[in-house]
Amino acid sequence: MAGILFIISAPSGSGKSTLVAKLRDLVPNLEFSISYTTRPPRGSERNGFEYNFVIREEFEEMIERDAFLEHAEVFGNYYGTACHFLEDAERDGKDLLLDIDVQGAEQLRHRATGAVSIFVLPPGKETLEQRLRKRSQAEHVMDERIILRRLEKAREELCRYPDYDYILVNDKLDEAVDELEAIVWSERLDRGSPDSREITQIDAWRYHQLAERCRRGKNGRMDPVLKSFAID
Ligand code: ADP
Ligand code: 5GP
Repeated sequence: MAGILFIISAPSGSGKSTLVAKLRDLVPNLEFSISYTTRPPRGSERNGFEYNFVIREEFEEMIERDAFLEHAEVFGNYYGTACHFLEDAERDGKDLLLDIDVQGAEQLRHRATGAVSIFVLPPGKETLEQRLRKRSQAEHVMDERIILRRLEKAREELCRYPDYDYILVNDKLDEAVDELEAIVWSERLDRGSPDSREITQIDAWRYHQLAERCRRGKNGRMDPVLKSFAID
C-alpha cells in the first residue's frame, strides 16, 4: 500500500521546523525529506541533516537532470525535493513529510494527487516578528533587512492558505504539536493505513476531533491572524 504524502508549509519563523522536529519524535514510520538548498547552513545546521547544502552549479545541474520532484527559489536561494525521497517512501510503503514553501506545494498539487497539505500560521504579525528576531539572536545573525523581507513575504504566503487542506495556528506549542499529530493519525485512520491498526477507539475519536478543528473553512481561529496582516 502506498504511503501518504504530507506537505507542510508556513511563512518563515512560524515555527514549522520546531513542530516538525517534535512530530518526528512522536509518530513512527514517517519519513522526512531532506531538501537540497543553495543557502549556507544556519546556526547548528549540518549537511545531510536539516538540508543537503550544495552550490548553485550543482543545484542547476540537478534541475537539468530532472532530479527534483519540485523546486523553487526562496529569498534568493534555491530549494528542492529530490525525486528519490518519494520513490523510496513509495517502495517502502512509508508516509513522507515534506517541509516546502507555497510554490513547491503548488507544483506538487499537480503531480501528487492525494497529498495532504497543512499550512501553519503564526498567531499574529507581532508574534511572527518576535520569533524571527529571537531566532536571529540565537543564531547571532541580526539583519534587519532579512527580518523585514521575511515579514513582507509572510503576508504574500498567508494569502495562499485557502489552497491547503488543514490550517494550524502555532500559538501554544504543545497544542499545535497535538493538532499536527492528530492530523497525521486522522488521515492514516481514514485511509486504513497499517500503522493505524493499533490505535484505540478513544484515541481515534480524539484524533478526528482535533484534526477536524484544523480543517480549512472550519477554522475561526485564523481570522485574527489574517486581520493582523491586513488580509481580508
Ligand atoms: P520556521 O521553521 O517556521 O522558520 P522555527 O521553527 O525556526 O520557524 O521557529 C522560529 C522561532 O520561533 C524559533 O526561535 C522557535 O524556537 C520559536 N517558536 C516556534 N514555535 C513556537 C511557539 N509555539 N511558541 C513560542 N516560540 C516558538
Ligand atoms: P529556511 O531557509 O528558513 O530553512 O527555509 C525557507 C523556506 O524554504 C521555507 O518556507 C521552507 O519551507 C522552504 N523550503 C525548504 N525546503 C524546500 C524545498 O525542498 N522545496 C521548496 N519549494 N521549499 C523549501
